[in-house]
Amino acid sequence: QPVVAVVGRPNVGKSTLVNRIIGRRQAVVEDIPGVTRDRVPYDAQWNGRAFTVVDTGGWEPDAKDRAAAIAAQAETAVVTADVVLFVVDAMVGSTDVDEAAVKMLRRSAKPVILVANKADNTTIEMEATSLWSLGLGEPFPVSALHGRGSGDLLDAIMAALPEAPKIVENRPRGPRRVALVGRPNVGKSSLLNRFSGEERAVVDSVAGTTVDPVDSLVEIGGETWQLVDTAGLRKRVGKASGTEYYASLRTASAIEAAEVAVVLLDSSEVISEQDQRILTMVVEAGRALVIAFNKWDLVDADRRYYLDKEIDRELRRIPWAIRLNLSAQTGRAVDKLAPALRRALASWETRVPTAHLNQWLTALVQATPHPVRGGRAPRILFATQAGVAPPRFVLFTTGPLDAGYQRFVERKLREEFGFEGSPIDISVRPRK
Ligand code: GDP
Repeated sequence: QPVVAVVGRPNVGKSTLVNRIIGRRQAVVEDIPGVTRDRVPYDAQWNGRAFTVVDTGGWEPDAKDRAAAIAAQAETAVVTADVVLFVVDAMVGSTDVDEAAVKMLRRSAKPVILVANKADNTTIEMEATSLWSLGLGEPFPVSALHGRGSGDLLDAIMAALPEAPKIVENRPRGPRRVALVGRPNVGKSSLLNRFSGEERAVVDSVAGTTVDPVDSLVEIGGETWQLVDTAGLRKRVGKASGTEYYASLRTASAIEAAEVAVVLLDSSEVISEQDQRILTMVVEAGRALVIAFNKWDLVDADRRYYLDKEIDRELRRIPWAIRLNLSAQTGRAVDKLAPALRRALASWETRVPTAHLNQWLTALVQATPHPVRGGRAPRILFATQAGVAPPRFVLFTTGPLDAGYQRFVERKLREEFGFEGSPIDISVRPRK
């Protein structure tokens, strides 16, 4: 279970903050000057994720050796914690004591989140921006007492935690949800009919699952899949089934409801703006993606030549998508669909162990460091995977990264770990 340590001077509101995080009031004793608390762990949860909060206690401000007291507290936090919450009083601003503590914490290379507590209103919140000067990155203004900003803070803590517990089987073990999308006439109904038409039995129900009546349960590659929102495809009450606007909304909601999308393109026609819009919807929704070039039976050598050029040009931004050349009409390569869906979903749910991720990252930044800009080069300190479906990564850095370098990191990350068929998300958390 990951550990979050709370560090800060007495009276900045650490106890109140801990209470806010663990969701209990008055559970933690207030700082009493002259009384040094031992570190006390509390169980907490956020978004279904369990973690431990350690209140590191306060140091006695008038102690003979204040520096030693600060050091001891910071050390406790650093040794035990995965993430350190450094709490300052937003109404007071940073003090020399705070700065001394920051020095200790910075040596640790542990992620430190700067909490500007007592930001009870917008005015104090604005003033909290001056705390950037502490060199810990963005301050999180919070009112531990009233709860203001605590949700954002908890989100930030979750993103910084090293590794989610393996509750992989959390997802109800029903059929995987697939969106079969594409502009009109690319062959969606034809493909659906291959799976659910007369030739094959439609699966009506799967034990223990409820399926939306607009969805179809079909067997593809020996497995049952839930094709979401296929009602319009099955009925085929004429071609005019609504405006393009309405169709686009439907496509978007099908993608949203799905885990993986099959975007059908018509290989006999140029890749259009509408095709691009649908692809963008999938990428932006963060769904796994298989691009099926349908009507492949119509592709001759000549068309093939131009199509390859179009693919280079139009699909350059999504080189990771899995591509299939099939024909709903002849049945060509239709059996490749299920393996492609499985592969894309596996990538989508990949979790890279933190140790492996950071070994790879260390080697990468050593071989190719960030280019120097204005005499300085931001360093990537370490990375964690903040989530799956799709995989999301957080890079902890000493400063913002060049867009080009960030793309380089993403490309290398894919080279190392694959993620074929899945978008990935990388965010950067600069610490100063
Ligand atoms: P939808 O609007 O995307 O559902 O497209 P349909 O399934 O209605 O197909 C549109 C037209 O393309 C129909 O005339 C189909 O017969 C034809 N079609 C679909 N798939 C193929 C294919 O693989 N090859 C060829 N040659 N025609 C196809």
